[in-house]
Amino acid sequence: MTIPDDRDIQGIDWRSKLTPEQYRVLREGGTEPAWTGPLNSNKAQGDYVCAGCGAPLFRSDDKYDSGSGWPSFTAPMGGEAVDEHHDVSHGMTRTEVKCAKCEGHLGHVFPDGPGFKGLRYCINSASLDFTADEAGADRANSDSDGGGD
Ligand code: FE
Repeated sequence: MTIPDDRDIQGIDWRSKLTPEQYRVLREGGTEPAWTGPLNSNKAQGDYVCAGCGAPLFRSDDKYDSGSGWPSFTAPMGGEAVDEHHDVSHGMTRTEVKCAKCEGHLGHVFPDGPGFKGLRYCINSASLDFTADEAGADRANSDSDGGGD
């Protein structure tokens, strides 16, 4: 999957590209019901990419079981994969997480996660596609635990 450049993203017809549920979450800031997303229970090794533009967002090593019903991560991939915005909608003060490439809504980040940063990136499964590592891919760090408890 190739990542379109910014001009291409401006011109994308998101309604035809995305499923209605993906559109509701990514482009309208919606939230899928807990426990409904297929990637919540995914434990395979690989990359979680934006369902809108294909940008790599999260890595399986940073995924953990938060018990929330949504895919949860301790950190995004790299430093610039996601943008974080103050969000006061729905009577709550939260930090919204968006794809830095296409500005698609992903979910929110909360300060109650494990790991040394203590962050929980609570992400809609509908916002993500999963790209499994190729069998036999050379990952020398398969023994690391990512710092979770
Ligand atoms: Fe995106």
